[in-house]
Amino acid sequence: MKLSVIGCGYVGLVSGVCFADAGHDVICIDNNPEKIFSLQNNKVPIYEPGLEELLLKNSINFTLNIGKEIENSDIILIAVGTPTSDSGEADLSQIFQCAEEIGNFINPGTLVIVKSTVPVGTCDEIEKIIHENSTHSDFTVVSNPEFLREGNAISDFVNPDRIVVGLKDNNKKDIILDLYSKIVGKDKILFTTRRSSELIKYASNSMLAMRIIFINEIADLCEKIGADVTDIAKGMGLDQRIGPHFLEPGPGFGGSCFPKDARALIESGKKFNAPQSLLESVIEGNEKRKKNISKKVLEKLDTKVEKEVGILGVTFKAETDDIREAPSLIVIPDLIKEGLNLSVYDPEGISEASKLIDNVAWKKSAYEVAENSNCIIILTDWQEFKDLDLEKLRNLMKRPLIYDFRNIFDPDSMKKLGFEYFSIGRE
Ligand code: NAD
Repeated sequence: MKLSVIGCGYVGLVSGVCFADAGHDVICIDNNPEKIFSLQNNKVPIYEPGLEELLLKNSINFTLNIGKEIENSDIILIAVGTPTSDSGEADLSQIFQCAEEIGNFINPGTLVIVKSTVPVGTCDEIEKIIHENSTHSDFTVVSNPEFLREGNAISDFVNPDRIVVGLKDNNKKDIILDLYSKIVGKDKILFTTRRSSELIKYASNSMLAMRIIFINEIADLCEKIGADVTDIAKGMGLDQRIGPHFLEPGPGFGGSCFPKDARALIESGKKFNAPQSLLESVIEGNEKRKKNISKKVLEKLDTKVEKEVGILGVTFKAETDDIREAPSLIVIPDLIKEGLNLSVYDPEGISEASKLIDNVAWKKSAYEVAENSNCIIILTDWQEFKDLDLEKLRNLMKRPLIYDFRNIFDPDSMKKLGFEYFSIGRE
């Protein structure tokens, strides 16, 4: 099948490469010249484990403009960004611009798949815009939201829990089954209406965000009453109705999806007069949590004399270079305002973070960060941090104080090693 993928970000590129690997004839389009230049030279412009190797195995064309290339496609897949706008709603300008451009070139019979996360009713809008810009109306718009996680994207794409497909009418089911036939069995595909499909994506991400904020607040309570959040999460997770996932406390959720999708769902609720009050508390609680991190650390430091602070991890989670809405973007400026000198290291995030964060010393390793520091703050749970030589780290620090917002070490072992060790929701 001939497939044009528009948008070469985390979702578009992974989809394009995985569909090519499944035997489809793929062309990937992005309006960012640097990305396309890099991809044409077989370099993946984002950090996603295994993606470059899979790209090299497959033959994919990369191009800058939506144009004649898409005319021969059986399927056009839209995977451009839908960031938060100033009002909190999803900013659909990238999507609508794509729809206009698609309208200019689309051939009769083409299926347009919307992989981007879009609010209810957006597929109707896309259909209208393509129609206004096209000489015919022989095309179909399908909602097919993506659920992959950055850092695990290829495995998630080729082994998904489910594929959700929202159709306006049933006559395009076969082409969807064909597209995914080498990736999943039919039983994994859930066909729904377009509106339900659009909402499934938002409801899923919002539910996960809610679990995170819930366990974070339980962790706060554990600290006050002397309970251990790890045991609480385990005890809860063994209940099959609850399950163990997304019950790890942390510094607050970030990334390109949870905060923006929860906000967009709140806005949809307002628009359709169905308030999403639980989610409003989730967003508020998450923002407060990120703001509280610096306060917690400052309680432990005598900032008149202890000014050297190290940060380990700037990305919103491990195994990605994505720093969108990462806790580090709040914590680092908050600590700088207090007059502290920050040394920062992240295995993959420095290039993106240094575009947004000033006035810190970027370091090449966790050990460089530790040198003469009065405190280290762990914000991301990279495996590299879990594998650190802790004795070496401790010996490099001026004061062996670690505040671990990812609970990556065992408190007793850390104390035995001579650290003043603080984590979340544990003694
Ligand atoms: P991204 O910002 O990484 O990539 C979007 C790409 O689209 C960019 O490279 C941009 O240059 C390109 N683009 C924008 N307008 C264009 C146009 N008119 N023509 C061609 N290219 C254009 O975004 P992403 O993280 O891949 O997310 C894409 C969508 O998928 C979003 O709606 C997001 O919510 C959703 N999603 C993301 C994830 C994730 O983990 N990142 C997971 C599931 C769903």
